[in-house]
Amino acid sequence: MAKLATVIGAGPVGCVLALLLRKRGYEVVIYEKRADMRRTEMAAGRSINLVLTPRGLRALDLLGLRDEVRTLTVPVYGRMMHSLSGELAYQPYGKDEREFNDSIGRGELNRFLLDKAEAAGVSIHFEAGLARLDLEGGMLHLEDGREVEAKLVFGADGAPSAVRESLAAAGKCERSLNMLPDGYKELLFPANEDGSYRMDAKALHIWPRGDHFLMGLPNQDGSFTGTVYMPNEGPVSFAALDTAAKVEAFFAEHYPDSIEVIGPSLGEQWFANPTGHLGTVRSFPWHLEDRVLLVGDSAHGVVPFFGQGLNCGFEDCAVLEALFNEHGDDDLGVVFRAYEEARKPAGDAIADMALENYVEMRAKVADPAFLLRKKVQKRLEGALAPRYRSRYAMVVYSSIPYHLAQQAGAIEAEILDELCAGIEDPEQVDLARAEELVAAKLAPFVSEHGLDLDF
Ligand SMILES: Cc1cc2nc3c(=O)[nH]c(=O)nc-3n(C[C@H](O)[C@H](O)[C@H](O)COP(=O)(O)OP(=O)(O)OC[C@H]3O[C@@H](n4cnc5c(N)ncnc54)[C@H](O)[C@@H]3O)c2cc1C
Repeated sequence: MAKLATVIGAGPVGCVLALLLRKRGYEVVIYEKRADMRRTEMAAGRSINLVLTPRGLRALDLLGLRDEVRTLTVPVYGRMMHSLSGELAYQPYGKDEREFNDSIGRGELNRFLLDKAEAAGVSIHFEAGLARLDLEGGMLHLEDGREVEAKLVFGADGAPSAVRESLAAAGKCERSLNMLPDGYKELLFPANEDGSYRMDAKALHIWPRGDHFLMGLPNQDGSFTGTVYMPNEGPVSFAALDTAAKVEAFFAEHYPDSIEVIGPSLGEQWFANPTGHLGTVRSFPWHLEDRVLLVGDSAHGVVPFFGQGLNCGFEDCAVLEALFNEHGDDDLGVVFRAYEEARKPAGDAIADMALENYVEMRAKVADPAFLLRKKVQKRLEGALAPRYRSRYAMVVYSSIPYHLAQQAGAIEAEILDELCAGIEDPEQVDLARAEELVAAKLAPFVSEHGLDLDF
């Protein structure tokens, strides 16, 4: 008889995990708190856009779904910076156009994965939120009062995770939540009447303004989903922008060239769309014996500034699948322990790098010294790849564990400090010295950890 696996949460990670377990022959049941999003209207301003990157797409390869998902995405090849005076500056993401990210609506992706999960025989119960997991009795206590037996439980219930909280309440896991003092708000930038884009759709657009920023990612229908990130309280904050007139004046002052793109609905959208909160969840351990395992945001909720939260959750699933293949299904405690050992340092590293990137996206992308560094990095990638790849490339395009990419990035930062000192133009960089520094500092680390930079 097939073993029964219970997954809590039918978000993107829960669905991918359910599909992988189904493929291994498990009978899979998902309990999801919300109503079925395929049958309900999504509330305005809840249309988060994500970038999927090759790291996350590799999990979809295991299910043969990459190509189908990519029919729902818009490829973006770099960042387009909008200065206050409306000048545009483009920074490509990768070493060439084969390296790009895929913009997709989280809702669209989730609906697609729900369809796939059901078609594969996964049974999904909607409006069936978990209130508490009884670890002793192996019972789910649902919010509607039902009690259901569940001997093998996967927590894929996102950052607020009731599974993780049940582990914590029983003293089986420690967790922390650090909220950012900043929040976010989604705004729709509509398409032109003929369905065409109002901005270049091959880029993520960004208006970096120091303590706040606006960004926009393209959708397939010619619109962009914009997001404003700013402090919740204070002189420049969501709290301070409390009338439509103030919002319009703020955009006219700080993001003037976005006004025409967003159109007359700005003030209305601002008050209709909710302000979201952002935080970092860390927890440990992520498993209990052979009975409970946390995946995705329930284990490691990260702020969105590296665009890796979901990619990391998908990679959790891919790593778990590889460990199932290595150790078999007979002793899940062994698989779960190996998963946790592999993924915890990775989860911590991407949480740290995402927080660091917050400063990069708000402020540094407009700073000439930072831009010079980025251009020097590109020159080094052009001249020295595959001996040198940027930290960004390692995080986004490779499968190098996040913590090793972070450590390699720290070495690269030292190399760049020396190479950028006293120059104003990337053409002035001393490539011979760069070769020496890469050979002396980066190469030993790459070789010690067996990293493959030829991706
Ligand atoms: C503004 C923003 C931008 C982002 N951009 C990116 C990006 O560009 N790239 C990227 O990779 N990531 C991005 N992320 C992060 C990404 O959205 C998350 O990492 C991802 O959604 C996590 O997937 P998940 O399935 O683990 O959790 P979730 O998507 O949170 O899904 C959890 C599911 O569990 C359900 N649930 C919750 N509690 C219960 C319960 N008690 N019982 C049953 N079900 C429950 C929820 O209803 C939900 O369906 C972004 C996040 C934000 C906020």
